[in-house]
Amino acid sequence: MPRPGFEIGGTVVAAGERRTVELPVSVLSDHTPVTMSVQVIHGKRPGPVLFVSAAVHGDEVIGVEIARRLLRAPQLDRMAGTLLVVPIVNTFGFLNNSRYMPDRRDLNRVFPGSPTGSLAGRLAHLFMTEIVARADFGIDLHSAAIHRTNMPQIRVSASNDETLERAEAFGAPVIVRAKLREGSLRAAARAHGCDILLYEAGEALRFDEMSARVGSSGILRVMHHMGMIGAKGLPKRRAAPIQAASSSWTRAPAGGLLRCFKEVGEGVDPGTLLAIVSDPFGETEHEIAATASGIILGRAMMPVINEGDACYHIAATPIDPLKRMERLAADLEADPMFDEDEIL
Ligand SMILES: [Zn+2]
Repeated sequence: MPRPGFEIGGTVVAAGERRTVELPVSVLSDHTPVTMSVQVIHGKRPGPVLFVSAAVHGDEVIGVEIARRLLRAPQLDRMAGTLLVVPIVNTFGFLNNSRYMPDRRDLNRVFPGSPTGSLAGRLAHLFMTEIVARADFGIDLHSAAIHRTNMPQIRVSASNDETLERAEAFGAPVIVRAKLREGSLRAAARAHGCDILLYEAGEALRFDEMSARVGSSGILRVMHHMGMIGAKGLPKRRAAPIQAASSSWTRAPAGGLLRCFKEVGEGVDPGTLLAIVSDPFGETEHEIAATASGIILGRAMMPVINEGDACYHIAATPIDPLKRMERLAADLEADPMFDEDEIL
């Protein structure tokens, strides 16, 4: 007997079929209809339902590129289970190159939302009822906020061993244990019994090759771990991820011009010079130094800063991070999945 079809938004996707389904969100003030587009790949063989979402924050475009690469992967043609890919959750923010909804609400603070609430609440509710309620597991793709960048990392809260195993299977260089934030998709989905891996990489409104590669190959590795695809053509990882239990931000001691000397992924020791803040005349200089050993998870990209602005995000880790990054770079070079023409 063939596998039953997958129903979503009034459309039934037959086993072995791939369809893009439009879920109505609202009608804009100028009468333009807005939908949330989801591509459904319903495998011939039974298996879990996985969703992949991006641009919950509308300006975090690296996830949209990762979703595009994922959907081109040949492994999906012979997949078991069902994959739901929503490349752009917050269409409003995406069109405006903005993190937020049109009323400045942060969509990732209003989950699970409500059908009678604000526009953000209604969109969150739609995502919960149409996507999360149908899924066994999810991967939500993010970048750092505007004018900051993140080293590719998985954020996960310790719920069960299976989720942590999937976090490791993803193969990002760092796994950060992060608490669930109230109103986030991750917290609302957990309450629904659907765990989520949150992937954070790169900068808002920018593409970068490493973030895109680690993200798209990581999703395929999680799918393999969940028994949805085979191992053939999957990029291997030699470097086990660094597990970071705690992290903290180093802040600017004064306003001025920020010159950064260290990049994300680099290791630091107490006293390592990270950056210097100068006044525009070059008469005063404030050094920013690391206070503990660790790895740089993120940093500010804007050279103009105010006193107290976050500059460097550092995770405490006893492991030599430089070696890890070198191995990660070698892994990516050896990736058979990507052609030269994929390099941006
Ligand atoms: Zn985000």
